This record gives sequence, C-alpha cells and structure tokens, in this order.
Amino acid sequence: MINVDPLELEKFSQLAHRWWDPTSEFKPLHDINPLRLDYIDRIAGLDGKSVLDVGCGGGILAEAMAARGARVTGIDLAEKPLMVAQLHLLESGRQVDYRMISAEELARETPRSFDIVACMEMLEHVPDPFATVSAGAQLLKPGGYAFFATLNRNLKAYLFAVVGAEYVLRLLPRGTHDYAKFIRPSELAAMCRDAGLSVASLTGMTYNPFTKAYALGNDTDVNYILHAQKT
Ligand code: SAH
Repeated sequence: MINVDPLELEKFSQLAHRWWDPTSEFKPLHDINPLRLDYIDRIAGLDGKSVLDVGCGGGILAEAMAARGARVTGIDLAEKPLMVAQLHLLESGRQVDYRMISAEELARETPRSFDIVACMEMLEHVPDPFATVSAGAQLLKPGGYAFFATLNRNLKAYLFAVVGAEYVLRLLPRGTHDYAKFIRPSELAAMCRDAGLSVASLTGMTYNPFTKAYALGNDTDVNYILHAQKT
C-alpha cells in the first residue's frame, strides 16, 4: 500500500506547466518561498548540508535551497511537476537530484542520510500524514532538522484557506484543499513525537489580503511551519 492519493497528483500534474509562472496558481508558493527559505536557513544553516525536499513539486523551494549551497534531493510522486522541475534546472543552472519515489520507500533505501528534511504544503494532500512524517524522521541523521508546513484545522483556517483563498480572492483553484485533511499543530506535534522527533518550534505564516504580503509570526491559526529535531 502506497501512501498517495492519485487525484491529488492529477491536480498538480494538470497545472504543472505553469509552476514557475509567478502569476499563476502557484503564486502563493512563489510569494512564501523567501520566508520559508530564510527560516530554514536561519535555523539549520543550508550551506553544505544534505537536504531532502519531500513533495517538491516543480522545485521552487528545492532550487532555492540549492542556491544557498545545500545538496538537495527533491522527491515527488507526480511525474509532470518533476519533469518541470528537472527542465527548470536548465534555465537556472542549479543542481538538484530529482526522483520519483515516496518518502517511505526512500527511507527504506537510505535511512539516516539527510541533515535536513523539508516537507512543505504537502501533508494535507496525503492519505496518511503520519507515515510521511515518520519516513521523514527515518531519513534524518541523528540531530537532523525537520520542517513541516501545512494548514491548521479550525473555522478560521476553513474561512481563510478554503473560502478566502479559493473562492473570494481566487489565489488557488477551487478544490485545491480538502478541509478534512488539515492538521492541527497539536496533531502534527504528536506525530513528530511518535516518529522520534522533538518539536522545537511552531511558526505561523499569515497573508494580508490588503497589502498582499505574507509574513512569519505567532499566528498559527491558518498556515504554519513546525520545526523539529531528531533525537
Ligand atoms: N512542496 C512544494 C510543492 C507543494 S504542492 C512547495 O511547497 O513548493 C504539493 C506537492 O505534493 C505536489 O507536487 C504533489 O504532487 C505532491 N504530493 C502529493 N502527494 C504526494 C505523495 N504521497 N508523495 C509525494 N509527493 C506528493
């Protein structure tokens, strides 16, 4: 049994050719990228580290981490986004090792091999997020850092991430997110602990519709990043 929802992969595959267009459906990922990149770099220091990007899609974060001097492996199970990611390397001249493999399978192949595992905006698209968190933990070297970014589950998250983003502001296509798959920080923290990670911090990511700017801060009500360390 492989931990993937084919309909989710299809959604991302259909839009894949627009992945690097910063005005497309992927605009939010482009906009938040500098924030999350700096956040990871500040905590874990990317230069010279071996980094795994789980659910890397078209490679927005993977390439940016490579540009900071990390040796990056990007994995995804959707073929088209990975092809786009691979092609974009020709344009950027960066190096990323892209592979179509699940985190669980890679964990069996090469456990304890990464200094940093990033898994961003992906857990809310898989049937069994704990299996992904657990694979991420197994892939880390002892002392390594994990970063998980996902959507909180509460009324405000529903109003902002589904109604606001998909219907009112049209930042994302309708149906991008399934509210039932959103994950509370307490639930993600419990998954991390069960996987052998100790939770170090929780940071909110907010969007201001008036200034159209994203920011990191204490408000974890909608989008958040959890940072944990392998004990
Ligand atoms: N992490 C990237 C892309 C987020 S979009 C970023 O933040 O920029 C979500 C990605 O998760 C898509 O590329 C989708 O194909 C991928 N995905 C969904 N289910 C997956 C699974 N089970 N295993 C690996 N990748 C998956």
